[in-house]
Amino acid sequence: MSSGIKPIVAGNWKMNGILQSSDQFEAMCDGAGNLGEHVDLMICPPATLIGLFSKMANGKSVGVGAQDCHTAELGAHTGDLSALMLKDAGAGAVIVGHSERRADHGEDDALVNEKARAAWSANLPAIICVGETETERKSGQELEVVGKQLSASIPDGATPDNTIIAYEPVWAIGTGMTPTAADVETMHTFIRKEMTDRFGAHGAGFRLLYGGSVKPANAAELMAVPNVNGALVGGASLKASDFLGIAGVYA
Ligand code: PEP
Repeated sequence: MSSGIKPIVAGNWKMNGILQSSDQFEAMCDGAGNLGEHVDLMICPPATLIGLFSKMANGKSVGVGAQDCHTAELGAHTGDLSALMLKDAGAGAVIVGHSERRADHGEDDALVNEKARAAWSANLPAIICVGETETERKSGQELEVVGKQLSASIPDGATPDNTIIAYEPVWAIGTGMTPTAADVETMHTFIRKEMTDRFGAHGAGFRLLYGGSVKPANAAELMAVPNVNGALVGGASLKASDFLGIAGVYA
C-alpha cells in the first residue's frame, strides 16, 4: 500500500454461525491463497467457534478474532468472557465498542476504553469501533460525535500494534446504505488528524477501517479512499465468496 500500512479486512459474524458454518470458514482459508501477502484477513465468529476456527486456520492466511470481552480477567461474571479466555481459545484480536454493544448493552466510551485495556492486558489488539447515528449525521454532528468517541474510547497507550480503529456509521450497518466516498474521506482524514494530534508520529500508522454495508460491489471504491486501511464487514463476511471478493480488491 502506498501509505505503508498493511490493510486488514475483518469479518464480524455477530450472533451467526454454528458448527455447520465451518464450511464457509474453510472455504475462506482455502480461497485466501496468497492474499495474505497483501492484506490481513480475520473472521470474528461467535465465541463458541473461536477454538475450532483457530485450529482450522492454523497455517492459513485467515486469522480469528473475538467480538467483545469483559473488563476483568476472571471472576463472578456469569455468561461473560475475558480477553484472556478469548486469547486462550485462539483469538488474535477483539472488537470492542461495536455499535450493537453500545446500543443493546448500554456500553459507553468509558467502558469501551476499559475493555480495550483489558484486551491489551491479554496481549490482544483491540479493534475499537466508533460511528455516528443517522440523526447525528443529519444534524451535521458526525465529526464532533466521532471525535468525542475517539478521545474517550481509545486509551492512552494506544499504538498501531495494539489498536485498530473502525469507523462504522450506525445508519450504514446492515442497511445497504453507505456514505459517499467523499464523506468517508472527510471522516477518515479527520480521524487520522485526531490520531496524529494525540499520538504524534504513531498516529500515522494506525489502521483505520471503514465498516457499514461493505460488499464486493462497493469494496473497491471504499477501500480506495485515502486513509481507509481496510474494512470491518458484517453480513457480507458470512459467505466465503463475498468475503474473499471484498478482500480481493487488495490482490
Ligand atoms: C458491522 O456490524 O460491523 C457491519 C459493518 O455490518 P454490515 O457489513 O452488515 O453493515
